[in-house]
Amino acid sequence: MEEIPFSRPFLAGTEVGYVEQAAGQGRLASGGAFTARCEEWLANATGARRALLSHSGTGALEAAMMLANLGPGDEAIMPSFAYPTMATAVVRQGATPVFVDIDPDTLNIDPEQVDVAVGPRTKAVVAVHYGAVACEMESLLQIVADREDVTLIEDAAHCLLASYRGRHLGSIGDLGTLSFHHTKNVTSGEGGALLVNDPDLCERAEIVWEKGTDRKRFDRGEIDRYTWVDVGSSFAASEITAAFLWGQLEIVEEITARRLAIWNRYHEAFADLEAEGLVTRPKVSDGQEHNGHLYYLILPTPEDRDAFIDALRAQGIAAVFHYIPLHSSPAGLALGRSAGELAHTDGLSRRLVRLPLWAGLDEESISRVIDASRSTAGSGTGFRV
Ligand SMILES: *Cc1c(COP(=O)(O)O)cnc(C)c1O
Repeated sequence: MEEIPFSRPFLAGTEVGYVEQAAGQGRLASGGAFTARCEEWLANATGARRALLSHSGTGALEAAMMLANLGPGDEAIMPSFAYPTMATAVVRQGATPVFVDIDPDTLNIDPEQVDVAVGPRTKAVVAVHYGAVACEMESLLQIVADREDVTLIEDAAHCLLASYRGRHLGSIGDLGTLSFHHTKNVTSGEGGALLVNDPDLCERAEIVWEKGTDRKRFDRGEIDRYTWVDVGSSFAASEITAAFLWGQLEIVEEITARRLAIWNRYHEAFADLEAEGLVTRPKVSDGQEHNGHLYYLILPTPEDRDAFIDALRAQGIAAVFHYIPLHSSPAGLALGRSAGELAHTDGLSRRLVRLPLWAGLDEESISRVIDASRSTAGSGTGFRV
């Protein structure tokens, strides 16, 4: 029986040709024609004031923490149910991640917990839109509204072409980050972008991007030499990465449509299991336009979840867990702190399983995943241990 991988890139077939074209143009560092095209496309698609292409989503998060001016003694509030580099980006600035609980319906940061945790040391609030379903941005915006020194950052790694009430995710806070990692909807292998929404941060973002220099202004002919003016690093993606990504961006509508179709198939197939109390499906409220980035089920107990993953693996299907909580991880305990109870994070992260979902998943594989999931979740044998 053929293995069904958890994730696999869906290629347009044009990507390598674009890389050759970039090579032929003789500019392989950042800032060539493909970089400009991708950045313009991303700014248009998201509504961000500026999009800066990065070598990774992680790089974009690190740049965001620099722009938020985090330093020793400062704190950044974030969900514990998140990817580790959100926290490392804070720690690298010498600041402290403060972990709060999630809303059990969306697995997104709970604004009430943020409201309690926010204090004089808070310099940033970081939200992850899990599975491209939006956080309660209105509430988060309100919490930071009268705190000019607090930067609101959206980790929109999952969110290309996802919106809430017409606003693209990642374009609502001061800054947003995207990822084009191999597992994301659109990929350049490694890659990412920073979305700059606060106009006051645009100029500094360019400097941080260009290794702390005003090189971008020099490239535009605004100054006659460039020099070191601020902190920064080498966050840019190369032209090779940008060229590959361009091929992917050209088919993003198709990728999204395919993923949404699979997502909807899964969602319908498990409706009766949810009605019987055997699984909980993702909740998507009105006004949410997600992009089919991931499909998960919540099982009744951690033991059920582990047995489910094992049972699917035995049938050649890679289903995986997601986010070991940051607050109880070795580095989280040493370098961060928790605010309030994190009961939902602890409970749900141990009961969640993600199913294979990628644009090239064929009909036969989709049916196999559905059948295996239904029989495992629906059976008493080897499931309820
Ligand atoms: C993938 C991901 C990241 C990291 O992005 P990279 O491009 O792999 O560095 C950060 N946050 C979330 C929520 C992610 O899914």
